[in-house]
Amino acid sequence: MSTPLVFKFGGASVKDADSVRNVARIIDLFARRPMIVVVSAMGKTTNAFEEVVSHWSRNELELAREKIGAIRKFHFEIIETLFEESASLKSDVQELLNQVNAGIDRTDLSYGEAYDFIVHHGELISTKIIAAYVGKATPTVWQDTRLLVRTDNQFRRATVRWDETTTAIQNRIDLGKVNVVQGFIGATASGTPTTLGREGSDYTSAVFAFCLGADSLTIWKDVPGMLNADPKTFQNTTKIDRLPFNEAIELAFYGASIIHPKTIQPLKKKGIPLHIKSFVDPTAEGTTIGGVDRATPEVPNFILKKNQALLQLKTKDLAFIAEHHLSAIYQLFADQGVVVNLMRNTATKAVFCINHDPIIVPKVMGELIGLFDLELVSDTELLTIRHYREEDERRETEGLNILLEQRTPDVVQFVFKRF
Ligand code: ASP
Ligand code: MG
Repeated sequence: MSTPLVFKFGGASVKDADSVRNVARIIDLFARRPMIVVVSAMGKTTNAFEEVVSHWSRNELELAREKIGAIRKFHFEIIETLFEESASLKSDVQELLNQVNAGIDRTDLSYGEAYDFIVHHGELISTKIIAAYVGKATPTVWQDTRLLVRTDNQFRRATVRWDETTTAIQNRIDLGKVNVVQGFIGATASGTPTTLGREGSDYTSAVFAFCLGADSLTIWKDVPGMLNADPKTFQNTTKIDRLPFNEAIELAFYGASIIHPKTIQPLKKKGIPLHIKSFVDPTAEGTTIGGVDRATPEVPNFILKKNQALLQLKTKDLAFIAEHHLSAIYQLFADQGVVVNLMRNTATKAVFCINHDPIIVPKVMGELIGLFDLELVSDTELLTIRHYREEDERRETEGLNILLEQRTPDVVQFVFKRF
């Protein structure tokens, strides 16, 4: 039997009944091959479950239940549009939502454990629906990723345990069928559900590709391929046809949101090409990552990260910021899951450009306030230009209030505030 293909469909590609039909059509184009189909939660379901978590954490259980009701309605409408006989699928989905409802009554869970427990249901529900729909035309099996992707218990950002995961995937995947699996989720050795971090389904798909030695991984997107900038933010974007693995890793690291940063490494290790293709135009070329030394075409890349905060720490006694300060700060960041996108230190100050997580950042500041004088500038953004040219830099920074700038021969970065 030939080596499998791994396909990944994100939330936008399964946001309503029509898009589910489209996913089934794409799978059907390739269904003579063994296939793993990794699916995210439908549309904005993960955000909706995050709201359930927020209500839960504030003990607003009525509001949490209302939100769960809205999630139910959204999925039931899709099911009713797709299936004439929908009762058994609806009861599967209801069963999953009952588990969430029972979960929010529990008081013994940490924030992270509760988050993962609640939020991971988005993928369980979406894959139930996709597997049932694809299964109408093609032999299909719904697989439980919690039995396949084994992780540690770092909730909200779990790390994959490769050995156990490889064994489980190789034992359980049925290469005679289309295997529909959940992205983004996993479980600890004792079966407690975990998640791999927001947008983690790309990474899941790379994990499956790696463990099965797949022929290729295709991530289906609402764009024609990888562009040199996000067209929602930048004008005059160019599609990249081919890109080396290393270049893709760099771009993902700086926040090119088209692929999750951890996705490329496993593929690179095994030389498995990554195709990024349009689910709107599935036979069009797209972008292929891997197997080349240089990008075609070679163009500058622009990456904008919004929702940043600039956190400045100053020693209280004007002592120098030394290694032991920095290592304590980074330890705290690592423990709490603060993502640092850029940092600079001077004699008595350290400045970090971080993702402005509304829950984590105040918590971390609470722990630092006894040790340092703190200053937080919120509503900042981080612009990265790779392979920059002077004219690009000038055009993109015009009129911005730049708070911090960092430059290497390849990359220039600006933290700024809009006026
Ligand atoms: N559903 C998850 C999220 O929205 C994972 C993913 O889509 O990749 O973050
Ligand atoms: Mg998503």
